[in-house]
Amino acid sequence: MPLFKRKTQVQGKLRLKKGDEVVVLAGKDKGKRGKIIETMPDAGKVIVDGVNIVTRHQRPRAATRSTPKTQTGTIKKPAPMAGGKVMLVCPHCSKPAKTSILITDEGAKARVCKLCHQAVDAT
Ligand SMILES: [Zn+2]
Repeated sequence: MPLFKRKTQVQGKLRLKKGDEVVVLAGKDKGKRGKIIETMPDAGKVIVDGVNIVTRHQRPRAATRSTPKTQTGTIKKPAPMAGGKVMLVCPHCSKPAKTSILITDEGAKARVCKLCHQAVDAT
């Protein structure tokens, strides 16, 4: 009998993939939808297209020898956000879906939508 019962930690692990459509659950972009353009599994973060846009203002500076050319003006780009703040959108029923992991006969893992019971992954 073990002294400590270990809970299986699912949080922190990314269950999202590049190309997944997700809906934002929290933050200023709450409710927005977008496709994942990059996942950062180590940091547990994702970059979602059109979501969490940060604007960087680059001041025009006179070109010098050490800094010849810098991009000036406003640069808008999506910033990484916590993977837990987004939820996968099922491509079949187009609703934010909880997924369960199924092991297929071939031994591969497949994500299945709990609402319509269809495989989320296009395989
Ligand atoms: Zn579904």
